[in-house]
Amino acid sequence: MYVNHLRLEHYRNYETLTLNHFGNVNLLIGRNAQGKTNLLESLFVLALTKSHRTTKDKELIAFGSDHAVIGAEVEKKYGTLNLELRLSQQGKRAKLNGLEQRKLSDFIGALNVVMFAPEDLEIVKGTPGIRRRFLDMEIGQVQPSYLFHLQQYQKVLVQRNNLLKQAFGAGPEMGTMLEIWNEQLAEHGVKIIKRRKQFIRKLQKWAEQIHEGITGGLEKLELSYLPSFGEAEEEDEAVLMEQFMIKLSQMKEQEIRRGMTLSGPHRDDLAFHINGNEAQVYGSQGQQRTTALSLKLAEIELIHEEIGEYPILLLDDVLSELDPYRQTQLIETFQSKVQTFITATGIESINAGRLQDASIFHVNEGQ
Ligand code: ATP
Ligand code: MG
Repeated sequence: MYVNHLRLEHYRNYETLTLNHFGNVNLLIGRNAQGKTNLLESLFVLALTKSHRTTKDKELIAFGSDHAVIGAEVEKKYGTLNLELRLSQQGKRAKLNGLEQRKLSDFIGALNVVMFAPEDLEIVKGTPGIRRRFLDMEIGQVQPSYLFHLQQYQKVLVQRNNLLKQAFGAGPEMGTMLEIWNEQLAEHGVKIIKRRKQFIRKLQKWAEQIHEGITGGLEKLELSYLPSFGEAEEEDEAVLMEQFMIKLSQMKEQEIRRGMTLSGPHRDDLAFHINGNEAQVYGSQGQQRTTALSLKLAEIELIHEEIGEYPILLLDDVLSELDPYRQTQLIETFQSKVQTFITATGIESINAGRLQDASIFHVNEGQ
């Protein structure tokens, strides 16, 4: 897919902005704090209705305004789509070709993006919660029904935890209530676990290949799901359901004592191994960065596999951190097939020789 046109109103430090004439490779050049990341972020928000930097939508609205609008024209395989997302105190409203979408999940996926930003290093280095968020965002983008199960799971989890907090010393009616929550928790939980495992299995295939390419064959990258119950490889829903129910009954006493749900997809994790060693623990800074980059590039191929189209690629401040060989590898891999937006503080910091056909945009104080 290809973004032809972008329009921003009251978005971060952009009062109004209209951009046309995008190329396959687009360089956004500007000094610090001018609005480069804000621009990439707006494309990300348009794709996922959420920012990669914050969970607070209010921060996306320009200071002093009560709403923000992001609009874009996106050329896809089967036609052109007009996307519009409006953010305000009252919430988010999305339109596709002028038609208001009742559910945001119907809007997510109209535009697909893969973003690589400095903070993505945290996918490898950071807490399990960051890795779960990575999985949830990426799977949700290609499978909107995943987000439905995730939402339902969260709701049941909150209610089940509330019950567990009051359960100590309570009578038998509590047990019946818990059984009901157990079933609902497992019903949605199993769907989430299964899709995460499938996603990781597919991502592994591409990530290993890409990582090998970037490191000149020196490093073998492996991804694995770390479940809070059962085997990492198990993907059969009926089997997972049974295992989840058994685990919940085994954990019952402990959960009542601690007042919370101790197993399920909200406690699962993802592990990366480089040549057999856990990257989070033993990886160098460069290895961790390359791992995160390989993951993101693998996602491009995965999205292509899932939806038959390439997403757009957003590279925030990452090109200048790679040596010229790796910059070239990166750009040449995708230049012809993936529309790319790259930020940098100066044209000299990137290997511009490879980017002769790039469109250059100078970003200056939200203009
Ligand atoms: P760097 O090179 O340092 O990464 P950048 O060009 O990527 O810089 P951005 O992150 O896009 O910079 O942000 C630029 C400016 O946007 C900052 O000065 C910030 O104060 C401003 N800004 C952020 N949120 C808002 C908002 N809601 N309203 C107005 N301005 C905002
Ligand atoms: Mg920035």
